[in-house]
Amino acid sequence: MDTQLAYINGEWIGKNLSVFPVINPATGEEIANVPNCSATEAKQSVDAAYAAFPDWSKKTAEERATLLLKWYQLIDDHKEEIGELMTREQGKPLKEAIGEVGYGNSFISWYAEEGKRIYGETIPASAQNKRIIVLKQPVGVIAAITPWNFPVAMITRKVAPALASGCTVVVKPAEQTPLTALKLVELAEKAGIPKGVINMITGNAEEIGKTWLEDDRVRKITFTGSTEVGKILMRGAANTVKKVSLELGGHAPLIVFEDADIDTAVSQAIASKFRNAGQTCVCANRLYVHQSIAQTFAEKYAEAVKNLKVGNGLDAETDIGPLIDSRAVEKVENQLQDAVSKGAEIKTGGKKISLGDGFFFEPTVLTNVKEEMLCMNEETFGPLAPISTFESDEEVIARANNTPYGLAAYIFTENINRAFKVSEKLEYGIVGLNDGLPSVAQAPFGGFKQSGLGREGGHHGIEEYLETKFISIALK
Ligand code: ADP
Repeated sequence: MDTQLAYINGEWIGKNLSVFPVINPATGEEIANVPNCSATEAKQSVDAAYAAFPDWSKKTAEERATLLLKWYQLIDDHKEEIGELMTREQGKPLKEAIGEVGYGNSFISWYAEEGKRIYGETIPASAQNKRIIVLKQPVGVIAAITPWNFPVAMITRKVAPALASGCTVVVKPAEQTPLTALKLVELAEKAGIPKGVINMITGNAEEIGKTWLEDDRVRKITFTGSTEVGKILMRGAANTVKKVSLELGGHAPLIVFEDADIDTAVSQAIASKFRNAGQTCVCANRLYVHQSIAQTFAEKYAEAVKNLKVGNGLDAETDIGPLIDSRAVEKVENQLQDAVSKGAEIKTGGKKISLGDGFFFEPTVLTNVKEEMLCMNEETFGPLAPISTFESDEEVIARANNTPYGLAAYIFTENINRAFKVSEKLEYGIVGLNDGLPSVAQAPFGGFKQSGLGREGGHHGIEEYLETKFISIALK
């Protein structure tokens, strides 16, 4: 089996290290190995990024943009190949995988341009001989730790603004999906991004994370993943007072009001819930439908869900691929059992699917769901859609907000007054209004409460990689 090496200071490294396998979740097959990097390589990666920083940060925004756009073009030229690699290691249907390559790549082109608009300020001073100017400067070496659910986009959302602003990076992709990530780096090298600017290592997450956190030269940690690990990293960052950006778990409510366009609500609720087999932090996790339309909605929704085809993501007809591993399947089963034991009814789905050694689960719709069920209180990260009913706006807003999470919420209504009022009252960083798929490169993505800190995307996303320097000038 091939070993795909890691990348430090422009060298492909790890030939002499032990390796671990990457598994295709649709078949259970081992498809490649990657090196088991540890503290030694973690330190070397920072040495390289730290050494590369002075030259990279000195380049003009235009020079960095030219390299970033070359990288963008190479990724675009290889989007089918990258998509296929992603489907093989992550499981999502090929059309979704290729779609993610395009989405992820849009952060590179967008930030290549935005890097040219890192403006400072001049501020009126309080004395006649004084002047105040404000500069924006790159933070320095950035450590990025990313999850498996979006193997391209979670990297480009961090690396593109970091590089555009003049920072250098060390990256650890998720152990489940390192191949797509390393392919991006291979293309970055081809694009001519200088050695040391991007470094990527695979291996022991805890040890690599700890080494980066303890290293004072790493000035920021940016992470997407579970709230639990986010808290560990935030604590670890305290000793050296690193900047921290966190994109953590979600528990998105999707609210369908009685005046909603039901067909739009059904199709968007399918897209939001079942994309990536339910494994995104902005997936609708709990559906609240006004009691007056609940039956009609549930019938139409279950009917549409029945038509979703589960299978290997490489098959053209597949709508839903496997879950990432057996633990993910167990989590869905556990929530389902809990809900059924407390009175929920299965409208469709409800079972594991035996398809070779893959981790498949039927897309499932539950009705008669109560607030005390597990699925209404924790992130599912799987293809389970619980439908609960409500009577008033106040009630559903309170129920939607009653969670430590605050990433995405969705509302469906044709009433503009209700749309604004409810959007403003939801304690969420992202509100999809009649829209189940809101994420784009130019908008700020991120959460309230325990869903995270900071934003990715938009001009907000580049601020995360910039320091602010105030220069006070006294003239003679
Ligand atoms: P998930 O449960 O979805 O895999 P995690 O938060 O465990 O989410 O993983 C997201 C990323 O964080 C992965 O790259 C993983 O290797 C990494 N990770 C997990 N534990 C730690 C840790 N203690 N320190 C640093 N990184 C970690």
